[in-house]
Amino acid sequence: MEPGATDRMTKSQAVMAGQREFIFPAVQPFYDDPLVLDEGEGVWVRDADGVEYLDLFSGILTTSVGHCNPHVVERSRAQMGRLGHTSTLYVTKPQVEAAERLAAIAPGRLSQTFFTNSGTEAIETAITMAFLHTGRSEVIALRQAYHGRSFLASNITAVDVWRPLATSFPGIKHALTPYPYRCPFKQPCDESCTEAFVNDLEDVIRTTTNGRPAAFIAESIMGVGGYIVPPPGYFARAAEIIRSYGGLFISDEVQSGFGRSGKHWFAIEHSGVEPDIMVMAKGIANGAPVGATITRPDIAESWKAKTISTFGGSPVSMAAAAATLEVMVNEDVPSRAEERGSQLVKGLRELQGKHDWIGDVRGMGLMQALELVEDRDSKTPSPRHAKALMEAAKDERLLIGQGGVSGHVIRLGPSLLITEEEIREGLERFGRSCQGMEDAL
Ligand code: PMP
Repeated sequence: MEPGATDRMTKSQAVMAGQREFIFPAVQPFYDDPLVLDEGEGVWVRDADGVEYLDLFSGILTTSVGHCNPHVVERSRAQMGRLGHTSTLYVTKPQVEAAERLAAIAPGRLSQTFFTNSGTEAIETAITMAFLHTGRSEVIALRQAYHGRSFLASNITAVDVWRPLATSFPGIKHALTPYPYRCPFKQPCDESCTEAFVNDLEDVIRTTTNGRPAAFIAESIMGVGGYIVPPPGYFARAAEIIRSYGGLFISDEVQSGFGRSGKHWFAIEHSGVEPDIMVMAKGIANGAPVGATITRPDIAESWKAKTISTFGGSPVSMAAAAATLEVMVNEDVPSRAEERGSQLVKGLRELQGKHDWIGDVRGMGLMQALELVEDRDSKTPSPRHAKALMEAAKDERLLIGQGGVSGHVIRLGPSLLITEEEIREGLERFGRSCQGMEDAL
């Protein structure tokens, strides 16, 4: 940058100039004119020039109990001042507390955890654990899944734009996505389609593996894929199938965990299935970098080699995780998400009634998406509507997320502590954005 160039810019423009010069160009923020965020409180954020936005996406469902939640900030700050780092070579109380709190809300017998710094690492841990426990090395995932950015995780991921390499990690196969809105078997898709999707899973095992898979891994609600909720009974049957072939069932709850889906702590619980291994990240520590892999003791003990994570389980991020979990329990976030979620869905369905390009409204609790189409008859995915709606919402000072394989899905996932009034305000802004976008297109 030329000397003095930043003097003529707004604060946001100056930061963006630095971003362009010093950050990998593969990092692509939302919007034509990306937002430089500077401050946050609850569901509100401010950009570097002081403009305030209502945040219905919470940094990809991560600030689960609101930006700068005072209890989480206080405990993290205090821990940083007391003891900031140890590595897993030493034992700390915050890590044990976070693990104990997790075990208290995790389904069934899941009780032993390994902490990392991201969802990707937690996925790697889960897959390695499944390979070690079963002595096998093939894994089945779903098409349109997103599981992370490492070599292994990006290969398990099945969305082209998130797979940087053509080189494949061996032993990964993909089964049909149980995607009701685009169900290839029957419209409207219902419980009867579950068996057809599960048959495909079994077919993949029988025809593309050696019949001895280590695991089947799936997001309980597909996040990046566009908040796809499988038809009723899918996970119960899928878990049965993988177990009948001697493999484990791994649930990826990175997006859908921690009460987000309403009523239960983890979305997989709606299916009545206890996973063998469960992966968490994002909302677990309200923005502190934490990934977690939880399993049963009989599986955990299969990992005989030594393993270490220098930053995993750091006292500061563990204090943040423990504090976040404490707030979640005290505030009963599963019930709050159920209640506020129905308020949100009701408003979104009203908007669907007004706009033909809103093909589908779906999700659970406070994880809701709109699949945008050219028109409801053709169901042609419409990334152009999604892009325009993102921009229109930004003009209304509202943050929403984009996703789906074609970038044609709008995703909403606010803080689990969002109030009735804030949802109402969000829906009003969203309604104006939809109208503004339609008029402009
Ligand atoms: N699994 C799911 C379902 C995710 O949504 C993500 C992140 N979007 C990951 C895994 C990877 O998490 P991270 O970005 O923290 O590595």
